[in-house]
Amino acid sequence: MSLKDNAHQLVREHLKMDRDGKAHKVPALLEELRRAVTPGHAGSAGGGMTGPPIPINPNALDLLAEIEGEARRDHYEITSTGWQSTLEELLQAFAAMDLSAEWDAYLTHVSRDWIDKITALLWPSKPRRKLVGKTCPACGWSTYGEERKVCLSLGCWDDEGNMRAIGTWDIECASCEASWAGEQVAYLLRALDTPGIKVVSEVAQVS
Ligand SMILES: [Zn+2]
Repeated sequence: MSLKDNAHQLVREHLKMDRDGKAHKVPALLEELRRAVTPGHAGSAGGGMTGPPIPINPNALDLLAEIEGEARRDHYEITSTGWQSTLEELLQAFAAMDLSAEWDAYLTHVSRDWIDKITALLWPSKPRRKLVGKTCPACGWSTYGEERKVCLSLGCWDDEGNMRAIGTWDIECASCEASWAGEQVAYLLRALDTPGIKVVSEVAQVS
């Protein structure tokens, strides 16, 4: 992803692949982050605000301040002038600037970092599903370590906490680090006597 791509995701409404494989429009990530700062202002339509106001989300506020501070500092270092407009306009200005290779690489990296941080804050990923009592076919263990942690775990959530299509699941052994993906997963689940369909219904219950 280039700096331009990253700035686009942060500042503009953009297309995102849904779990059904279709692209749909989602708001700019910075807009979502700003909304998260004061959640009382979002999603309250028709809700009748009777209780006390919902407090500001300090994590969202901190992240927004961090992004804004870094972007403005970088702009000052590049141009020796202070940026006089919004953060959103600054990111677009960066993407349109004739930057040195070093600054381009640096800003591409930090803007990717902002995207990851915003995504992690707004849609924390759900933990992998432990396959309790199942033996890893690679190392032959079902638990490891003094705490007898479960070896096998199933990855089945996307970044936004929705269940991924079964063909995209993965299984990992935390003990020997063996991993399986794609069609191997359904095969392995059957071999472990944990058919995918059963996992789907169990996963749906705990989600
Ligand atoms: Zn193993």
